[in-house]
Amino acid sequence: MSELTIPSGISFELSDDERMMIDSVRRYCQTEIAAFVKAHGAETYIPTEKMRELLKGLTEFGFVGGPIAQEHGGLGLSWKTFGLLLEELCAVSLSIGITAFIQTMVATLAEKLLAPELRDKYLPQILSCDAIACMGISEPDVGSNVVEIKCKARPVEGGYALSGEKTWISNGDYADICICVARTGEAPAALDLFLVDRRESPFDSHNIHKMALNATSTAQLFFADCKVPEQHRLTQNGQGLRQVAGLFGVSRPLVGVFSVGVGRAALEAAVSYAQERKQHGKAIAGHQLISGYLAEMATKIDASRLLVLRALDLLDRGVRCESESAMAKWFATELGVEVTSLALQIHGGNGVTCEFPVERLFREARVCPIPEGTTEINKLIIGRGLTGIAAF
Ligand SMILES: Cc1cc2nc3c(=O)[nH]c(=O)nc-3n(C[C@H](O)[C@H](O)[C@H](O)COP(=O)(O)OP(=O)(O)OC[C@H]3O[C@@H](n4cnc5c(N)ncnc54)[C@H](O)[C@@H]3O)c2cc1C
Repeated sequence: MSELTIPSGISFELSDDERMMIDSVRRYCQTEIAAFVKAHGAETYIPTEKMRELLKGLTEFGFVGGPIAQEHGGLGLSWKTFGLLLEELCAVSLSIGITAFIQTMVATLAEKLLAPELRDKYLPQILSCDAIACMGISEPDVGSNVVEIKCKARPVEGGYALSGEKTWISNGDYADICICVARTGEAPAALDLFLVDRRESPFDSHNIHKMALNATSTAQLFFADCKVPEQHRLTQNGQGLRQVAGLFGVSRPLVGVFSVGVGRAALEAAVSYAQERKQHGKAIAGHQLISGYLAEMATKIDASRLLVLRALDLLDRGVRCESESAMAKWFATELGVEVTSLALQIHGGNGVTCEFPVERLFREARVCPIPEGTTEINKLIIGRGLTGIAAF
């Protein structure tokens, strides 16, 4: 990727170390991860122990610990650098990319919220991927409006008992640890975070079959009077909601990265196909409409990447950027659908067969406008930022 500097003074220039890191992640993903995906099947479910092994392999390349401070066992990378690493993984396997992303998000919450004793116990397990983690927010009746969460945390002797159901939870079936948002009072905002160690506080899970990304776990979780110790309550006085909102600030542009990665894979496939496929006496890349489609795809991917990097750069500099994160998320994920659709179109009839990757990339891209705030919710956030009036 060429140097990215935009006139506002924001520079995406990478240090030599960052550049080397991205190059080695690219090599690892394009050889080791790609070879695994080819042999295993891009859409075949990856069992827990195999996923753990893959995650452990990725930790050597800045995953999970990348954005964690060095004094806590991480690498202290910027979000911007982590985003570029994630793009490399998502361009090869979005399923594995999502799993690594969620693990990283939970690591950042654990770093921030766990008391020192608990942090010393859990953060190393998450960073090494000895424990796979998930984040339980959504419920069957509660998606876009998190203040309606019903899962309850009832005080019991020595701690709390969690009761309720979570759904769409990435890594849910794999998870040894869940950071769960639960209601601690009747007031709408009385929501707090709890660390549930499944090995000590068991809960059930059930994988959900989706239109794409079935190589990784997206699951329903069932908490039936699941007892967690007092010190596993990570927030007090309804601060859980504020922490979730803070997490979305980072996770939204990173979901935008999913689509940049998938879009890039689709562009690469479309370029090769357009160079090789001949119709009307020449390679279809020599037909102006196809050349135009490729140009449109490349431009949309670059525009998405720039918005994503802008949001990550603001986060790195500690600048409040709720609207910029929301812009990056909705724009990159919606454009990912357009880009992968064009890649499929360029492949003609072959595009709709499983022999070529583009139909899978199209299905994967279509999922991305939904998690971490739908396109509609992200536009409402931007609208609220512009007018000061919430239109939810
Ligand atoms: C692959 C995948 C992975 C996920 N991973 C996780 C995870 O790890 N943890 C987790 O907690 N959740 C996860 N989710 C859940 C995700 O966050 C929710 O699906 C999302 O927030 C939308 O909620 P919903 O599905 O209930 O849709 P709803 O909230 O029911 O929305 C349905 C439709 O109505 C629209 N809508 C809702 N409210 C408004 C409004 N006020 N104005 C205009 N339109 C509106 C929405 O935009 C959408 O189009 C995941 C989802 C998917 C698909």
